[in-house]
Amino acid sequence: MADTPVGRFAPSPTGRMHLGNIFTALLSWLSVKARGGRWILRIEDLDPQRSRLEYARQIEDDLLWLGLPWDEGGIDGKLPAGPYLQSQRHQFYEDALARLEATGRVYRCTCRRADIHAVGAPHASDGRIIYNGRCRPKSLGGNAVPSLLQNKGAWRLFVPDETIVFADVVYGLQNINLAREFGDFLLRRADGAWAYQLAVVADDALMGVTEIVRGHDLLSSAAPQIYLYHLLGYQPPVYAHVPLICNTDGIRLSKRDTSLSMEALRLRYEAPALIGHIAHLAGIIPAPDPVTPSELLSCLQFRTLSTLTTLKSPSILVPSS
Ligand code: GLU
Ligand code: ZN
Repeated sequence: MADTPVGRFAPSPTGRMHLGNIFTALLSWLSVKARGGRWILRIEDLDPQRSRLEYARQIEDDLLWLGLPWDEGGIDGKLPAGPYLQSQRHQFYEDALARLEATGRVYRCTCRRADIHAVGAPHASDGRIIYNGRCRPKSLGGNAVPSLLQNKGAWRLFVPDETIVFADVVYGLQNINLAREFGDFLLRRADGAWAYQLAVVADDALMGVTEIVRGHDLLSSAAPQIYLYHLLGYQPPVYAHVPLICNTDGIRLSKRDTSLSMEALRLRYEAPALIGHIAHLAGIIPAPDPVTPSELLSCLQFRTLSTLTTLKSPSILVPSS
């Protein structure tokens, strides 16, 4: 028998969830629950400025209202792999960073924001600025980093000119060149804050996550994450990125789109009516009739993640009022 699937939902508690977040949560939940798996709730509160515990509590309340209980994790989750708040997991990130340092690929970068954003800075294909490599050692593992600077600055990973190839369940085969699309990405900021790429890999690996269902905006991030899995000696999970929900102008929903926030949705719908609409948007049921997540589990169309392969477009448009 194949191992039990383990999925997770990893919201950032920076505001109320919206239709897009619950679309992802439902698909991730169904995928593992349909195969008798476990679903973990992890709170990604790495950014102390924007994260609030009250938002995390609200996320938990909204998930329970929707009928999406988690098997493991949440604010008070301790076992087996807790704590499940990233703000309480520094020790795990320290360990991961130490292991990456042991590969000789980590160096300190003392550039200021202005240096990194200077005219002529390299860009990824989507326009993001890529670090120009100013502090990059000439060779790996040597003494190329001036010792004066070794204990200061941000931690970056020396990334090879290597293309990561992986098969996304929804979007198919991906070829993403690390150097061109990410460059030497951050592992930890100079102020000590942990970078998303390092934390997400450390957490998913330690929590035994076998499949990641999340928004299409994170598709390319799977490449640096897979690279980190390899450096840390872990087996990467299966990735299924799902379309982003956009308003009719084609703009992705954000926490500022209040008409499709959970607050507004809970005033307009009963939970089964809302789940019915979302399941219909995802192509799981033929009509938007009320249904609970548990009832969807017995629905024949939803057997494995590959059900989602019909969701090819990067976004789904929905009217926001
Ligand atoms: N914390 C991220 C978010 O709220 C999700 C990260 C992930 O699923 O890898 O969008
Ligand atoms: Zn630098």
